[in-house]
Amino acid sequence: MRRILAALSVITCMLSGAPASAQDKIQDKVRVVATFSILADLVRNVGGDAVDVASLVGANGDAHAYAPSPADAKRLAEAKLVLVNGLGFEGWIERLVKASGTKAAVVTGSKGVKPRQMADDGHDHGKSDPHAWQSVPNAKIYVANIRDALVKVNPNGKATYEANAAAYLAKLDALDNEIKSTVAAIPAERRKIITTHDAFGYFAAAYGMQFIAPQGVSTESEVSARDVAKIIRQIKAQKIPAVFMENVTDQRLMNRIAEESGAKVGGKLYSDALSEAGGPATTYLDMMHNNLKEFRAALVS
Ligand SMILES: [Zn+2]
Repeated sequence: MRRILAALSVITCMLSGAPASAQDKIQDKVRVVATFSILADLVRNVGGDAVDVASLVGANGDAHAYAPSPADAKRLAEAKLVLVNGLGFEGWIERLVKASGTKAAVVTGSKGVKPRQMADDGHDHGKSDPHAWQSVPNAKIYVANIRDALVKVNPNGKATYEANAAAYLAKLDALDNEIKSTVAAIPAERRKIITTHDAFGYFAAAYGMQFIAPQGVSTESEVSARDVAKIIRQIKAQKIPAVFMENVTDQRLMNRIAEESGAKVGGKLYSDALSEAGGPATTYLDMMHNNLKEFRAALVS
């Protein structure tokens, strides 16, 4: 009997040892859910082939005002790691995590970022600005958080995650330098832009541009006739050259403002979500390049 057991255990060892690699590779893929497309792209860059990443809010989707589905709860339940932006961006995530019963680690991508507090102008009191990814130094903090979270849930992939993160961080450094030199080439008095919602505050602070938005940091805030009138006066008084549309907001408001103020309408900016496949902003790097190209086209006379 003992011999049979010994023989069996040898066979078991062989079975689990030898042909396991190909099969295990698929099973070993760490399932990660990110709340929105930009964050999902950062996870893909760090996780590479070792992770299977899904985004709850898809291309061109508005994460401020998202209504999760039962399929989203199922995805969370099957995930090993859930990445959220934090800073109040996904007001719906806490309830969804609870409802899903997931045992996944829930990690905040923006942890360690210095939050940009909104000025107390009456309607955004006490809110922090969630759009931290719009500054590349902040994106680097996200990447480090993602790397550390992946290592924690899957220590076997440590070397891969660290190598991927290092390679991607180098690309982010190059992007950061490119943004700085492009903005430097725009005359200082023309570095002013109107966007629909206040999504570029971190970009403004990092790179020295001025953004003015009729809508607050969330797309859910209401725009009053008084806000619109104020913006139009500001465009005229400060000679602001361009008004931009974002992929996640209603374009009618900005068309009206452009019409009444005489400012030119710039190209489409990607603020809170990537573009659909085949569009100009399918990755974080492409998104930042697209926006930079549009700023330059509108502001360099
Ligand atoms: Zn936003």
